[in-house]
Amino acid sequence: MISTSFRVSRLPLAGLLGLALASCHSTKPSTELATAPPATGTASTTPAPTGAITAAAISGYLQAVSSDEMLGRKPFTVGEERITTYLAAQFKDLGLEPAGDATADYRGGRTSYFQPVPMTEIAVAPAPTIQIAGKGQKLSLDYKTDYVVFSQREQPTVAVQNSPLVFAGYGVVAPEYGWDDYAGLDVKGKTVVVLVNDPGNAGQDTTLFKGRAMTYYGRWTYKYEEAARHGAAGLLIVHDTQPAAYPWSVVLSGALGPKLRPQTPDHGASKCALEGWLTLDAAKRLFTAAGQRYDALYAAANQRGFRARPLGLTLSTSLRQKLRSQTSKNVLAVLPGTTNAGEYVIYSAHWDHFGVGKAVAGDSIYNGAVDDGTGLAALLSIAKAFKNAPVKPARSIVFLAVTGEEQGLLGSAYYAQHPVFPLAKTVADLNMDMLWPYGRMKDLTVIGYGQSELEDYARAAAQEQDRYLLPDQTPETGMFYRSDHFSFAHVGVPSLYASGGFESRSQGKDYIAQKRQAYTISMYHKPADQFDPSWDLGGVAQDAQLYFRVGQRLAGETTFPKWRVGSEFKAARSN
Ligand SMILES: [Zn+2]
Repeated sequence: MISTSFRVSRLPLAGLLGLALASCHSTKPSTELATAPPATGTASTTPAPTGAITAAAISGYLQAVSSDEMLGRKPFTVGEERITTYLAAQFKDLGLEPAGDATADYRGGRTSYFQPVPMTEIAVAPAPTIQIAGKGQKLSLDYKTDYVVFSQREQPTVAVQNSPLVFAGYGVVAPEYGWDDYAGLDVKGKTVVVLVNDPGNAGQDTTLFKGRAMTYYGRWTYKYEEAARHGAAGLLIVHDTQPAAYPWSVVLSGALGPKLRPQTPDHGASKCALEGWLTLDAAKRLFTAAGQRYDALYAAANQRGFRARPLGLTLSTSLRQKLRSQTSKNVLAVLPGTTNAGEYVIYSAHWDHFGVGKAVAGDSIYNGAVDDGTGLAALLSIAKAFKNAPVKPARSIVFLAVTGEEQGLLGSAYYAQHPVFPLAKTVADLNMDMLWPYGRMKDLTVIGYGQSELEDYARAAAQEQDRYLLPDQTPETGMFYRSDHFSFAHVGVPSLYASGGFESRSQGKDYIAQKRQAYTISMYHKPADQFDPSWDLGGVAQDAQLYFRVGQRLAGETTFPKWRVGSEFKAARSN
């Protein structure tokens, strides 16, 4: 799972902000969901052939993928070679067909389990100032102290000269909430300044959007995308610690250092030239120079029907960039369906972690056993269970181990842009990331609860295990946007991200809360996240069995699960 809401990982503080919150949170579930019957009423009555999915099998896979020999599974290293070779060999041994090298339909003979994922590393060296001018004012903002900027344009230099500044509220166009901060606005060539998060999450009125739960409209990536769709030259987000939930230092460390991005066909030409953040203090000075007051603009932006305000100022700056191309790979295999092979259920987990790095307590290998060795172990166990099942699935099942998750969901984002199998024929993505090795659970916590009908499938499978469904306990931290299922949601494919982790079957709630907190503080994204023989992998097996059952049922149906009304991803789905 990626740290925080910010793009770049290796931010322990950021991880704590999100995850410690999750673990220290009240041990009372906000809503224990009533066990309603599944919506579609076509639950399979055949017994679950989940025999291949046992704690012992999980343990074997988990020890293999998180061993020191895997060198922390970092992209572009020997560790990548080892883990991708291992995964491909496992897929082959299971008799799954290769689904990589996207040149032909797999029935036409794909020969590789690898999908190359070309990435560009962009290291930015911005000009040391931003110049603001207009209304008889001149204002100079200092890099790092007042702002950070970067660019997704794959060019050695990017410059913005005399670009008119516009304040556009939250920078959100959300038809399902009747919200349009760009209404009547032409921002071509202009630089848009927006508030962080979304009106419900950051404003005073919690009836707006999803209240405290962050929607995709609150994500900085969304704001950059929306500004680019409107042809803006730049987008700057006003950082405010309170709604952002992380301090400026997190923005700063995320913005410095090189960034990896999946290569795009237009090399980023359709993106804004300039993306970045302003400190609250710098934004206040800028608004004052424009003859406006931040408090008044903030209040206006939180009102329905807000209209964007030209600020009467212009912005000029430039940045130099060092570009480097590197290619990593996703590993994928398919079990062709029997009667409906042209429709697909995808299981995903990320293979990458942080490699060999700074030693902590004499250990420098970031093994990533929980993150996401558990997901890989579940993926392989599920593949084996499908292969061993007496009745083969009607739809095809795809097993996808992606790269670059920890750097910002890069491998899954690349797959979503270069799908091997048509997205319109992809029924669902079932993603597994960080399953808890602390025994069997009574709950199944669904991250992003309320988004799609997949939670009805999850509920039915949970009932078979005598578990209850629980919504995300910290929806304000935006967990739904922090693992690979999100890359699929973004392009309209319903996706499930769930696991048990709230109430231990034998030890109760406090026990698991303490375990999770301890993990967050001493193991998350650290060398200490390594296999421990004392772990009880019954919970990982339980989650994997549940995922198997969900996929098995989806594979036997002819319908497509739908996004719920009000989901921000519904519009992207054609069927
Ligand atoms: Zn992670």
